Amino acid sequence: MSKKTAHTGNPDHDTNPQPRISAPPSVGAEMESTGSTPWNHTTPPREDSLVQRLRWGVISSIPTFALWFFTHPYIAGAHRADALNVARRLYKKRGIYSTIDVLGEAIECREEAADALEEYLQLIGDTGASNHISISVKLSALGQGIDTTLCDHNVETLLQRAAEYGLFVRYDMEDHTTIDQTLGTYKKFIGEYARTGIVFQSMLFRTPADYDALVHLRPNVRGVIGIYREPAEIAYTDKRTMKEKLLQLFEQMWANGSYVAIATHDRDVVRRALAIANKMGKTTDDYEVQMLLGVPLNHFQDDLVAQGIKVRLYIPYGEHWAAYCRRRLNGNPNIAALAIRNLFRFGQ
Ligand code: FAD
Repeated sequence: MSKKTAHTGNPDHDTNPQPRISAPPSVGAEMESTGSTPWNHTTPPREDSLVQRLRWGVISSIPTFALWFFTHPYIAGAHRADALNVARRLYKKRGIYSTIDVLGEAIECREEAADALEEYLQLIGDTGASNHISISVKLSALGQGIDTTLCDHNVETLLQRAAEYGLFVRYDMEDHTTIDQTLGTYKKFIGEYARTGIVFQSMLFRTPADYDALVHLRPNVRGVIGIYREPAEIAYTDKRTMKEKLLQLFEQMWANGSYVAIATHDRDVVRRALAIANKMGKTTDDYEVQMLLGVPLNHFQDDLVAQGIKVRLYIPYGEHWAAYCRRRLNGNPNIAALAIRNLFRFGQ
């Protein structure tokens, strides 16, 4: 997600270098996509309750221009130049780092995986040797759900190109069915490509053990609560618990020497995480704070930067931006309220 905003007088509202509300980019490109979203899970047609089907019916019938009006703060645009422009302005104007993601995960054939890989290779080439931009990738976009060998080949090609420029690559974590494979890929390549990182989701019961299994590698980690709707048999369903578990996870990771990206928009969780880090004797070399582009927390982010803390925004872009937004809305209808509030700069 990426783009602009205005001011409400609220300190956390932003003046982000985000795209203006011009015409929606690449209108139409999304309609045929069935991919999931950056961390969106739900594949609408499989949903079974009437309410869910109705909700998806409403969301899928929102005209693309209307969707763009409400969601443009979260998406950099359709093209990599849009994402790079946003990333460069963020760094120049506010000292904020970026991690760029190509929208289009959960592809359905090898050709789509090849297209995604090609876009990543072009993105990396255009980014060059930048010390304020990293790459985020969902392995489903590179063919994880189709063929593991194909996915590994694509991952290695991407890692090789990133290594040429010294760029850091982080594997986003998708729903629980993909975790073993994603961790396996991380382990497979970390020896040769050290500048890679992984994501752990505190909502899952398995996560502390998953981290423990990698502890010898001192992984560079992003800690999140997790965005996928997971079954109660394997995950905490209460957000407050997820956040407490996230703080415990940070402690576990710092205790084992990991570099930790604190990825949340909850200011209280960020403050508590920083207090834990301080108490453990950690410095700003041991962590950074990550948020999504478009979430109106500029003032908070700028305060962190002023304290010498690295802040990195997640910048998605791509032709399939509208499919991405529809799935985000479907996966979490509260985002609609957040998006509207964000657009008109109410609250916060
Ligand atoms: P919340 O309670 O959801 O949010 C706190 C407050 O932030 C809200 O009350 C609201 O005021 C504000 N806010 C939150 N979202 C928005 C919004 N969209 N618009 C406006 N305001 C908003 N999940 C994964 O499963 N896998 C990943 O790989 C992954 N990578 C991530 C990378 C980054 C950089 C970030 C920030 C999140 C990532 N996530 C990932 C998503 C994460 O798991 C959470 O679902 C998401 O961050 C919301 O949880 P929260 O901790 O921000 O708390």
